[in-house]
Amino acid sequence: MLSLFSLVCQRSVAQTVRRSPLLLYQQKCRRIAPAQSRLRKVISENGKNTPFNGQSNNKKTEPPLNSLWVPQELQSSIIGKSNSTAAVASLICLYLGSLIPNQPSTSSTLPLAQSSEPQHNTSRSNLQGAMIDIVAIVGDENVSMAEDELISHSNSAWSTYTQNDSRPCFIVFPSSTEEVSAIMKICHRRKVPVTGYSGGTSLEGHYTPTRGGICIDFANMSKIIELHEKDLDVVVQPALGWEVLNEQLAKSNLFFPPDPGPGAQIGGMVATGCSGTNAYRYGTMKDWVLSLTVVLADGTVIKTRQRPQKSSAGYDLTKLFIGSEGTLGLITEAVLKVTQLPQTTSVAVASFPSIRAASDCVSQIVADGVQVAAIEILDDKQMYCINKSNMSRRTWPELPTLFLKFAGTPTVVKEQINIVKQVAKKAGSRTFDFAKGKEEQVELWSARKAALWSVMSLRRDESDHVWTGDVAVPISRLPDLIEETKEDLNKSGLLGTILGHVGDGNFHVTIVYNDNERELTERIVHRMVKRAVEMEGTVTGEHGVGLVKRDYLPHELGQSTVDAMRQMKRAFDPLCLLNCDKIFRMVQPQKGEVVEW
Ligand SMILES: Cc1cc2nc3c(=O)[nH]c(=O)nc-3n(C[C@H](O)[C@H](O)[C@H](O)COP(=O)(O)OP(=O)(O)OC[C@H]3O[C@@H](n4cnc5c(N)ncnc54)[C@H](O)[C@@H]3O)c2cc1C
Repeated sequence: MLSLFSLVCQRSVAQTVRRSPLLLYQQKCRRIAPAQSRLRKVISENGKNTPFNGQSNNKKTEPPLNSLWVPQELQSSIIGKSNSTAAVASLICLYLGSLIPNQPSTSSTLPLAQSSEPQHNTSRSNLQGAMIDIVAIVGDENVSMAEDELISHSNSAWSTYTQNDSRPCFIVFPSSTEEVSAIMKICHRRKVPVTGYSGGTSLEGHYTPTRGGICIDFANMSKIIELHEKDLDVVVQPALGWEVLNEQLAKSNLFFPPDPGPGAQIGGMVATGCSGTNAYRYGTMKDWVLSLTVVLADGTVIKTRQRPQKSSAGYDLTKLFIGSEGTLGLITEAVLKVTQLPQTTSVAVASFPSIRAASDCVSQIVADGVQVAAIEILDDKQMYCINKSNMSRRTWPELPTLFLKFAGTPTVVKEQINIVKQVAKKAGSRTFDFAKGKEEQVELWSARKAALWSVMSLRRDESDHVWTGDVAVPISRLPDLIEETKEDLNKSGLLGTILGHVGDGNFHVTIVYNDNERELTERIVHRMVKRAVEMEGTVTGEHGVGLVKRDYLPHELGQSTVDAMRQMKRAFDPLCLLNCDKIFRMVQPQKGEVVEW
């Protein structure tokens, strides 16, 4: 009888309290009074007049997650108005009611405290079963468990994330959207976590498989599907590299501007919302993607748009997936905008006595509206690394240096070079060289492109790491931010360089450190990020969040914004299968894990 009765009580009380504030709750309590009195009778017959939770009334207790919690105020108001047995009985009803599953949350956001730990199944037998199912789709030649591949699909020497304890169980190389969809259906059914992988050049632990599971490498999907020259768009697969794309486009006198790390591929470039040296003139990845084909966590395939250059049809899901770091879906096809190759290009390099002078030159060029194609700043330490590494054929002055790219008609390029030369002179430039021909252009620009590798080549031994962090601020604040960060770096005694796409207020530090110097390094980056946020900037201008910048996001955007992102993640991927733990946390950090702001 008790169990039948408690079932009735559970339904009515639990549903009401979940829906309502105090008033509704009290009304409902009155409605269930007859039921309470019957329960009272049962309790007194059984002599079980025990307190609700054994807690003293004065002690505040936290609600157990996923269970119904009766606020202290409510407990005492009930107890004050009725006799204690009735109160206890109703509380028992409430407790029993809490044992049935919660109604879906009606909240617009999902705070970490309310999200439940993802329940994956990475047991050996389940993964073995998944592998058998997947091999039936892609063939065993497209599944790998080779140790070196598992390692290279977990992290890289250029990644800021250095923990090396996560590996995928195996890697799959699908060849079509249909295969990716079939794989995701298996993983969804078996609750196996999945990480996407394209060029592997990302820098913040983006593809480190924190939950194990499987890695989907798109290497077999690297084709240009269709070039529409008249429409200025191209349909491509995710593992097409941006350099290969540009080689092909050049045959039609066309060009795709986003230029992140060498070897980066379209899938990863969309997923990180990358940019590169051309962003100042041409914008970032989000400006060059028209439509995406995406496989969602349960294997559903969606296409976000057709191919028009503009559309206001419904939510802009294309933009939603750009920068989503593989957490919302796997990109299997992209329609990209392309543009005409400029008639002429040129490169100039100018050195300055100080970072302030170089930054002032940049501010002036931007303020004057000179439409150069790229402006990059490299500090004296970065120029020292390029010289020392012998990665450039020239020996450069070890001074803060601007690398500038010009693009347009021959007249425009000539005019721009003259204007910039004058501005640089006013800002105190020590040298100003510009390329006389194509070969020299490549030579000058290759020094800029060697920047990260040149710093890495100066690691003292194999135990050294590099930390590559980026931030961006409104352009007028850039000189202050760079100067303060540089001072911090100099004081630390570490080998650290500054390099930036300064035309759009974005710069990077690259620091060489060993395990003993990790905390020192972390603090320098932390102060840089904090300064950027305080200057109304962003914690990352282009590299993305990955695992490393997660705890900074609430400081820039506010906790509610991050909680809204977590809710969106839950809507698209309720089991948190896709690149779980990236961008924001899915479980509470350990004590001391998060550096105090
Ligand atoms: C030397 C060097 C210079 C760099 N310079 C720049 C720069 O100037 N500007 C810049 O923005 N970045 C730069 N980067 C960083 C890096 O090149 C970019 O983040 C790039 O966009 C990553 O692309 P990728 O193909 O290597 O992606 P990956 O590293 O393979 O993956 C990145 C993320 O995307 C996800 N992902 C991969 N493929 C897919 C897919 N098909 N669908 C869904 N999710 C997917 C992964 O899970 C991961 O979270 C540089 C890196 C290096 C090493």
